[in-house]
Amino acid sequence: MKTKILLAVFLGLAFVQFSLSQTEEKFDFYTRGEYRANVPRPQSILRFDVGDFHTTYAQMEKVVDEIAKAAPDRVKIYDIGMTNEHRMQHLVAISAPENIARIDEIRTQTARLTDPRTTSASEANTIAQNTPAIAWMAYTIHGNESASFETMMQVIYQLAASNEPATLDILKNTITLVLVGENPDGHERFVTWYNSVATGNADRNAIEHREPWSIQGRFNHYRFNLNRDTLAVTQKETQNMMKAYMEWNPQLAVDHHGQPSQYFFPPVALPINPNLPQPMTNRWLDIYGRANAKAFDANKWDYYVRDVFDAFYPGYWDMYPSLNGAIGMTYETDGGGSKGLRWTRDDGSIATLRSAIAKHYVASMTTLEQTAKTKVERIKDFYGFRANAVNEYAKSKMKRVVILPQDDRVKAAELIEVLRRSNIEVKAATSPFSSNSAHGYMERNSKSVSKTFPAGSYIIDLNQPQRILIKAILEQDTPQDKAFVDDNMARFNRNQRRGKGQAKEDYGFYDITAWSMPLAYGVEAFWTEDAANVAGTAVTDDYIANAKRGTVNGRAQIAYIIPYETDSTSAMMIKLVQQDFRIAVATRTLNAAGRNWPAGTFVVRVTRNADTIHDVITKLSREMGVNVTAANTGFSEEGDTGVGGEAVRSLQAPKIAIVADEAVDQESYGSIWWTFDRYGINFTPMNINAIRGGGLRNYNVLIVPDGSASRYFSLFGSAGVTTLKEWVSNGGTLITARGGSVFAALKDVGLTTSKLVGSEDDEQKGKADDEKKQPEAAASPTPKMGDKNQPAEPEPSPLMLKSDKADGISPGLPPIASPSANANKVPEALPGSIMRATVDRTTYLTYGLEQDEIPVLLASGYFFRYSKEGTNALVFDATPKRPLTISGFVWEGNTENLLKGTAYVIDEATGGGHVVLFAEDPFFRGLTRSTTRPFFNSVLFSGVF
Ligand SMILES: [Zn+2]
Repeated sequence: MKTKILLAVFLGLAFVQFSLSQTEEKFDFYTRGEYRANVPRPQSILRFDVGDFHTTYAQMEKVVDEIAKAAPDRVKIYDIGMTNEHRMQHLVAISAPENIARIDEIRTQTARLTDPRTTSASEANTIAQNTPAIAWMAYTIHGNESASFETMMQVIYQLAASNEPATLDILKNTITLVLVGENPDGHERFVTWYNSVATGNADRNAIEHREPWSIQGRFNHYRFNLNRDTLAVTQKETQNMMKAYMEWNPQLAVDHHGQPSQYFFPPVALPINPNLPQPMTNRWLDIYGRANAKAFDANKWDYYVRDVFDAFYPGYWDMYPSLNGAIGMTYETDGGGSKGLRWTRDDGSIATLRSAIAKHYVASMTTLEQTAKTKVERIKDFYGFRANAVNEYAKSKMKRVVILPQDDRVKAAELIEVLRRSNIEVKAATSPFSSNSAHGYMERNSKSVSKTFPAGSYIIDLNQPQRILIKAILEQDTPQDKAFVDDNMARFNRNQRRGKGQAKEDYGFYDITAWSMPLAYGVEAFWTEDAANVAGTAVTDDYIANAKRGTVNGRAQIAYIIPYETDSTSAMMIKLVQQDFRIAVATRTLNAAGRNWPAGTFVVRVTRNADTIHDVITKLSREMGVNVTAANTGFSEEGDTGVGGEAVRSLQAPKIAIVADEAVDQESYGSIWWTFDRYGINFTPMNINAIRGGGLRNYNVLIVPDGSASRYFSLFGSAGVTTLKEWVSNGGTLITARGGSVFAALKDVGLTTSKLVGSEDDEQKGKADDEKKQPEAAASPTPKMGDKNQPAEPEPSPLMLKSDKADGISPGLPPIASPSANANKVPEALPGSIMRATVDRTTYLTYGLEQDEIPVLLASGYFFRYSKEGTNALVFDATPKRPLTISGFVWEGNTENLLKGTAYVIDEATGGGHVVLFAEDPFFRGLTRSTTRPFFNSVLFSGVF
């Protein structure tokens, strides 16, 4: 044993002789005693020292259990819900014994602070004096940011074991809620892999700094970034956390990360979401920032504030608390995760896991001390957040939001369900009502109109305590600070003047700039400047469950008629045909059961199916919210298409494969996986080698998610491309999204005839640059944000859009510098904006869409020319009467001009099959749902048209 260790030490010295001297001093985690001897230190259970190895989730649970058992006077564990991989998430409450003894009462008193209509300011003052503050300390939302995870056990131990005066002060004045693992499944993937390959090597090229595609512990089970999910609340972890959050109503929330090369804590950078109340928010960020700075200075640690970390997109786990009245903050440490146990910085010094843990530990403890010191003020401001929201309602132009369920009853109910998770009060109108100043969502700064809304419309009045959160997630558009916009436009203008081959300036966007929930979901909505009293019923869980339910009006003799009224309808049809039931679709107006139905209505003929069809239809329609009509005669009263008509075409069962490989964007793949799973649609993930080797033999649908076009090309190779072409001409349907679509449009691939605007083979591009043959077909790719070219360098910011490539390679192609003569001829990548797409309602791809225009997200510079050979199902009008931009940031003089006359969804029939291009992810973050029907249609109607 001893010899081995000595040998290792000598070998280690030989290798890291230079680096060792650069390593920071070993931090001592146990200087803040006296410690209660009966409370075990984490290391006594783990059998390794802090930062020497990575702790698995189950080991951590044992540590926390043992500490809680030894310190029941201070520690109480709450189970808050399971993950997809059956791990339990825990919230560990730690406080002084007298607080633990009355913890339920404290929770009740704190909840009273959230409703200024029933709790007066003086009552709130009393509560502030008599109850501790609630501090939400969350760790490891990105499962591979491992220093955060290890830190959490040290914080729990310190609070449970120490009798140090400062620690006792924290216990007395706060209830610290430690969320021990925000993303247990991702963490477990990462540490299991890392522990199995790591040698503690600081070389950036060592294997331990390169997580394989199938590991990527940043994401949860479905490869969602949980730190973007508080808008649509799609994932179990988010749902668990939000439920717990609403039960505790914290006044402070810290989300502990670990991605950059340097420690970060607030104050934050621009843009700051204008809904956050000022100067209150910035004042507290400054208080906490200065406290942390003092502690870091004392340790001689460097760090940064502001820089790139903003507070704009409302779906982060610092913004969600902030929009609920807490001070929400992101802390980023500088080691662990992809940097592993040891990692070489750009100046040759070594970042260690232990040092990264130490910094998080000091920041956590400092923040808790600060909260304890100022808890009365913090609690009063927490109350004031909602009290002011209610008081300032009169000044707010936006008084009410009305959401109409007609276009998709189920999807509208799902949106309302999200709002109810945050205790937003919603009413359903019991009779029609009017507004004299209603604004539609499909235009920014639209003129107000008079409008009557039908009974059943959802009403969200802003005259309620959650006004600020409501406004932040439902307003049509959220303006960015002028200084921020001007700065980025100035960079853009400088870039336009920069010659080919010159490096371009990066932009300051972190994430999407448009997210308005009605637009993202694609449900019809209005906001109004008036809010007359309307008869309605409060929307409860039961109301929502009922709204999501479907019915069948009897047992059919001849056929079931299934109108395409919800996104879930096509999902139900895919399920049915995958279960070998025989389904057909009317391609013309159908007359059945005494009325007309539009093209795209589904027909299930009784005699063509097994007897079980009746029960299956009843069950699925109820579960999936699909209303079904039973037809008892085949006779049509008018027209030429009845249930037995020739224009009613039989569907084929889609046998779906999805590319799952190194070139694929994790979140894109995950969002499709999650969507299929939630509807129970079967598919097979397949890697590119298997596809090249004949893996598609038994499949008729292949989905190529967003990803790197160049890597797709190198993995498929020309032989693989030939395989794809043959498979399509033999009847396969190839569906591509974003980078997958760019791959399809590459000159050397040619799976589509559409060209990217600004690419080499784009014939409509300006003529000034004709002599300059550019190396590869590429518009300016996806935002540079996060697409670091240095593989081993962790991404610069965890908050960045699409910052999550396995190897840091851009999902698009290398950017091509546009020479000044070429200014504004190449689309500048959009940071995520919502645009107006026009629907061609004559193609099967848009069956089920009754609107002429729908809002779609664009988060790239990939603009596709109209296909001349195929069908352009969703387009950006060549001569729009209104601006194409609905919400979010666009590049003046560039975006709108170049977007006109391009297509968002293209269908080209090739031989016996189809290639269907989507310019974007169809289910971005599970949030954008306006193109669900075209996407499902491309799957469901494979082989039919
Ligand atoms: Zn992170």
